[in-house]
Amino acid sequence: MPVSPTHPDQEILTAMSRAYSSFNRNASVWIEGFTRQGGEIHCQSGCFHCCNFPIRVSLAEALLTASQLNLEQLESVKFHAQKVLENARTASSWDEYFSRHRQEVGFCPLLDRTTGACGAYEARPGRCRDTFSAFSAEYCKVGTLEHLNRKDRVSYQRAVKVNPATDGLSHYVAPLEDLGVSIWEVASRQMRQSWDLEVWGDFWVLTTLCQDEAFMAAIRAGQVKSASRRATNLGLWHVEIVQIEASR
Ligand code: SF4
Ligand code: SF4
Repeated sequence: MPVSPTHPDQEILTAMSRAYSSFNRNASVWIEGFTRQGGEIHCQSGCFHCCNFPIRVSLAEALLTASQLNLEQLESVKFHAQKVLENARTASSWDEYFSRHRQEVGFCPLLDRTTGACGAYEARPGRCRDTFSAFSAEYCKVGTLEHLNRKDRVSYQRAVKVNPATDGLSHYVAPLEDLGVSIWEVASRQMRQSWDLEVWGDFWVLTTLCQDEAFMAAIRAGQVKSASRRATNLGLWHVEIVQIEASR
């Protein structure tokens, strides 16, 4: 993916781009070995039921995504970010936030619902890369697990427990999620080296925030308070949605 050589955070973008390539290679090797031994991964091109999950990213990942989006996509991300924040401000618990995100905030605006294609495929964040399913996509659909009857829930739980690709709790592929940690490690290191702080939070909110020059100027200067004040003034702040931590 082309990274502009004049971008002020070019070092971070290049490092993230390399981290994605390295993750893609390692994930392919793991999937090849797993399927050779008879394991099944159900993800395929055009499948998108997981694109309505809340997504946590680093600002480093959000910057890379934003650098590859056109104006129309950035506008749709901003609109989605406002829905995310509204949900966070009114939800009474994490469970409510999570379920309303999937059902009401809805699908990522970068998704083409007709083809199932991701509009930012090359620049999608780590969470979108490391989410794979060991069960049919039906189980990823919003409502499927929530509406299982008791008997089906018990068989789902049993099937998850005996599947070597899961963590025993859900049908998502745990070793690939573990590989995805390497992306976050690179992001953490790069943010500390370049900005002396780390920023983590919602994908759409951070992708919107990183478009704002004053916010990014505060980040680049390592000024936690100025950055959070600017995010507040932009109406893009919520303590559960954006976290800015100074290096110790
Ligand atoms: S995680 Fe589930 S919904 Fe997402 S691509 Fe894989 S099978 Fe499809
Ligand atoms: S960035 Fe792409 S893969 Fe990730 S949620 Fe959005 S459409 Fe889906």
